[in-house]
Amino acid sequence: MVTVKYNKNCDLCGLPVEIDGFSLEASQDTKSFCCAGCLSIYQLIYTNNPLTENKDQTNNNNEDI
Ligand SMILES: [Zn+2]
Repeated sequence: MVTVKYNKNCDLCGLPVEIDGFSLEASQDTKSFCCAGCLSIYQLIYTNNPLTENKDQTNNNNEDI
């Protein structure tokens, strides 16, 4: 049998975590990720940051001729 070193899986994509260090301390437990991309995506999804100022609302319907 092959001995598997890693015993954790990425909390985002499910791939085995081979590199230690891409982890995020949540309120309940520590999440582990396989890469920095999964870590940042997880942060984007699960952390509610009020930095959502990318709304492009142009409600200028004043077309008076
Ligand atoms: Zn991943």
